[in-house]
Amino acid sequence: MSTFQAPKGTYDLIPPRSAKFLAVREAISAPLKNSGYGYIETPGFENVELFARGVGESTDIVSKEMYAFETKGGTKLALRPEGTASVLRAALEANLHKAGNLPVKLWYSGSYYRYERPQAGRYRHFSQVGAEAIGAEDPALDAELIILADQAYRTLGLREFRILLNSLGDKECRPVYRDALQGFLRELDLDEDTRRRIEINPLRVLDDKRADVQKQLVGAPMLRDYLCDACKAYHEEVRELLTAAGVAFEDDEKLVRGLDYYTRTTFEFVHDGLGSQSAVGGGGRYDGLSEMIGGPELPSVGWALGVDRTVLALEAEGIELELPASTSVFAVPLGEEARRVLFGVVTELRREGIATDFAFGGRGLKGAMKSANRSGARYTIVAGERDLAEGVVQIKNMESGEQSAVALGRVVEELRSRLSS
Ligand code: AMP
Repeated sequence: MSTFQAPKGTYDLIPPRSAKFLAVREAISAPLKNSGYGYIETPGFENVELFARGVGESTDIVSKEMYAFETKGGTKLALRPEGTASVLRAALEANLHKAGNLPVKLWYSGSYYRYERPQAGRYRHFSQVGAEAIGAEDPALDAELIILADQAYRTLGLREFRILLNSLGDKECRPVYRDALQGFLRELDLDEDTRRRIEINPLRVLDDKRADVQKQLVGAPMLRDYLCDACKAYHEEVRELLTAAGVAFEDDEKLVRGLDYYTRTTFEFVHDGLGSQSAVGGGGRYDGLSEMIGGPELPSVGWALGVDRTVLALEAEGIELELPASTSVFAVPLGEEARRVLFGVVTELRREGIATDFAFGGRGLKGAMKSANRSGARYTIVAGERDLAEGVVQIKNMESGEQSAVALGRVVEELRSRLSS
């Protein structure tokens, strides 16, 4: 082991498990690519102010968990703790919203950083695939995103997840509710920190997991009773579209989520096999965010699904993904001459698109065959001096053990035909 280890709260993705991460990213992005979402990539860091204004000064993400730093040039930056603010910033900067083609639909995949207390399923560096639909207020768009996430999880084989759905109201009805809730909360017996939260972000108090707090919350005013008619109708439409699509969900009036920018639709995907960090993904509508970061009014909706927790969910359900074998053919040369010849064959096979590997390092037959076995290859090709003198290569079927000699000039063709059958 070297003197260095991965920093606290982080881990490395290492084969073979790393293949699952690639497969999860692919499974989540496939339905998006198929539904008009274009790929966007933004920097791993942004001006710290973008997150302060976009995600919200009062959130844990900004106030406690951000990796913020000042550059030598005096610019205040932060490693991105989430994707939405950056994607919206980039879309506005490139004037995508002015191309007359709303909504602008974008998807992304990348690393995110939060200085959280590490535990199972909660890391300081994690990976998300996300989608944003910018510049349209249409319940079908909210429904589309939820349906696509559901599709992604189902394609992966996940079954033990649930969709929680709520509406947070809009700038008309939410402030009225906020006042009512604050009035109720101020009368409770709560600690200093929570009292402060009542003043900055009272909805988050509803989310408090502590039993003694939850007990006092019985009888708290519920947002549902304060939603304006427009918000109610919008929410009802989202619910109906999901039901019509056969996507089951649970109404969860307490679903607030940890980011300030959400309005109307909010949702979370939770997995029941993950313990306390059960949210595998979440999102919602953020109609005010563009204006909060200095842009025009652009009602939008999006989600981010956590890749790390999706992999944990697969493992919790015991799902083995059908990953394509990384190696189909493994070449084992015996002697210098065979090395050169078989290396040529390997190059040719790879150019034909056949996944091939080679016994490097001049190891003996036994060691090389061990590597061939470990590689998972269906066929091994072996050649020694006598084979070369006869102009043949041995092809060994690794499953049956059966071996046959094939003319050197025909090896590629023979393997291609055997592998396609
Ligand atoms: P959020 O941006 O907080 O709504 O998170 C969206 C998804 O990202 C969550 O549902 C998780 O799957 C994942 N996620 C968020 N924070 C972490 C973390 N610290 N470690 C691992 N995954 C995370």
